Amino acid sequence: MKKPATIAAHAAGAVDQHSGGVVPALQPSTTFMRDADYAPVRADNIYSRDDSDNLRQAQEVLRRLEDAAETLLFPSGMAAIAAVFRTLPNGAKVIVQSGIYWGTMAWIRDFCERREIALTEVDADDLIATAAEQPADLVFIETPSNPWLKSVDIAAVKDATSGLLVVDATAATPILMRGLDFGADIVMHSATKGINGHSDVLAGVLSTRNAETEVWQMIRADRKMAGAILGPFEAWLLTRAMRTLPLRVERMSQNAQELAEHLLAHDGVEDVFYPGLPHHVGHAIAQKQMQGGYGSLLSVLVRGDRARALQVTGKLQVFLRATSLGGVESLVEHRQTIEPHTGIPENLIRVSVGIEHIDDLIADWEQALA
Ligand SMILES: *Cc1c(COP(=O)(O)O)cnc(C)c1O
Repeated sequence: MKKPATIAAHAAGAVDQHSGGVVPALQPSTTFMRDADYAPVRADNIYSRDDSDNLRQAQEVLRRLEDAAETLLFPSGMAAIAAVFRTLPNGAKVIVQSGIYWGTMAWIRDFCERREIALTEVDADDLIATAAEQPADLVFIETPSNPWLKSVDIAAVKDATSGLLVVDATAATPILMRGLDFGADIVMHSATKGINGHSDVLAGVLSTRNAETEVWQMIRADRKMAGAILGPFEAWLLTRAMRTLPLRVERMSQNAQELAEHLLAHDGVEDVFYPGLPHHVGHAIAQKQMQGGYGSLLSVLVRGDRARALQVTGKLQVFLRATSLGGVESLVEHRQTIEPHTGIPENLIRVSVGIEHIDDLIADWEQALA
């Protein structure tokens, strides 16, 4: 198996045989011709709701990076999560980590209620015990989690449950953590975040260790028939973006580590949540599961109240005030404004660290905290 940097730089070998171009062509056609005998000109290209060359190219890069049996792209991270949950029968039992991406939790609650699925929400710290005690058809975890940056031991959860283990590894990307290697049955990412990394494509991805399972067959069939497909242009942009994924992740992780350490030592800061900080809960698990860094996402608890947090956020100039994460440009978000009822501390500022020069990033926080 080639190294991730090589797989990514070469887009897993996607070139344009037709023109000889070293990058693949963008093929937007929705429908594909048949010959005079009515045989498809290409058996794998019939109609673009099923599949397309650009989609397959992007999937192949991700499949190799995850070392997966099969990888499927979806039009968003939420569409990928929904695709997994839609395979559950009515009355199923699921365990979901609490304190994860709020959009995921809100949708799962609603879906489980409609389908009479028994939902147990449990904190990262109690997940293994709960998974061992309670039978479940599906266990859904997010590591590192957003915005608490908690880490969950994937292998230990896999050992504890007989259910399908699905891991949202968005904050890690396949460069820093390959969840399938630790026993996850399905690894999910919002490719909108670090995988695309340029804040200009919405996409989600699922990868599996075993493409023959009933659940995976259902996911694949449902994507095709219900039409939750990523368009060729998005897939093409994603393939282009992923060429630099290992480089971007390396720089972002370095920047995030340095910024986290700097802010933790600052008088104006109460605490910093980051898997790469030795004092942070779950650091040992992150150390075991992640390689090459701890990602671009951290949360800063400034000393003071909500007004102080908003004041600091307002004074930042390099960090843009916007939701999302994993892009080349640094972003901040006052999460409590977005989800006021979920227990996010009022002084928490979520930070997505980009690829800018670290001196500029630190100087920006220094002037904002001054
Ligand atoms: C953004 C995000 C999602 C949802 O992905 P979309 O592409 O926005 O639909 C799911 N999980 C995590 C951890 C995320 O950050």
